[in-house]
Amino acid sequence: MKAVRLVEVGQLLQVQEIPLPPVGERDALVRVKAAGICHSDAHYRAGTSPAGPLPLTLGHEVAGVVDRVGPQVANVRPGDRVCLHYLATCGDCYYCNTGHEQFCAGGSMIGKYRDGGYAEYIAMPARSLVPLPDEVPFEQGAIMMCSSATSFHALRKGRVRPGERVAVFGAGGLGMSAIQLAYIVGALAVYAVDINRKKLALAERYGAIPVDAAQGDPVSQLRRLTQGRGVDVALELIGLPQTMEQAVRSLGPLGRAVLVGITDQPFQVHSYTELLGKEAEVIGSSDHLLSELPLLLEFARQGRLDLGDVVTRTVGLDAEAINEALDGLERFAGDVRVVITP
Ligand SMILES: [Zn+2]
Ligand SMILES: [Zn+2]
Repeated sequence: MKAVRLVEVGQLLQVQEIPLPPVGERDALVRVKAAGICHSDAHYRAGTSPAGPLPLTLGHEVAGVVDRVGPQVANVRPGDRVCLHYLATCGDCYYCNTGHEQFCAGGSMIGKYRDGGYAEYIAMPARSLVPLPDEVPFEQGAIMMCSSATSFHALRKGRVRPGERVAVFGAGGLGMSAIQLAYIVGALAVYAVDINRKKLALAERYGAIPVDAAQGDPVSQLRRLTQGRGVDVALELIGLPQTMEQAVRSLGPLGRAVLVGITDQPFQVHSYTELLGKEAEVIGSSDHLLSELPLLLEFARQGRLDLGDVVTRTVGLDAEAINEALDGLERFAGDVRVVITP
């Protein structure tokens, strides 16, 4: 089969002809219909995030049709439309059995540590497959497996309750899902914080109240917008110490700041005024859960989570076009999302 692969770090991805992956007793072979090109993939190509062993087929945002299944598989059948939870997990350990498979010691992310979806087919433990409703296009199902799922998990970690006010720091791919999902789970108001006017305008289309951090301290803007109280939940989706500090400082009493963006830099928080005195919480959120995906896809089926504006372009399983899309992500240019449709 054809696959577009990272052969050497720092080099362009290459198309390779490789054998079909073996299908274990509990695995399914999926014919890829859509694979999202994610900013993380640009990091793997450049070597700024680790990936391997090489050569490796990238792509962790995958939807497709089940082609065949191993003898012990009962949850899916050939012909089923599916999305892939991007972690291949053992299904037997303590964390898998308690629904926190992101901590499975044997877990391995597709497109990072094992072959992913920039290919005609992918083999995956069948337990990691989630049915994709007919109403949701493959392209949208695929990209929901990364940014939407991660946003949804973060909102759940933040325990957003009906009537609460939510600030979303970073109005990019994750942010657009976070805004819609915050309203779905009952937020009264969602504030989108960014310095990019275009992104803020798109956030506004999804019902968010824009907070332009280029026009002054977003914390005081949020205080003003909440009559001095501060927000109940702040999601930090950017991964900068400065925005992490702002997320914590924007909280009102009993507020929760959920950190999703990744950085290797520490950030500062004033323990009394920002945490103890307000009984505020700082919560880490990593990846998402398999059990969260069916509900997420149901929101999309009902049209309440709409990523129609987010998918902007599709390309074939073509190394040149994929490398160009990754270049665009590195320059933060143009497309919000490019999806491969093999
Ligand atoms: Zn991704
Ligand atoms: Zn496990």
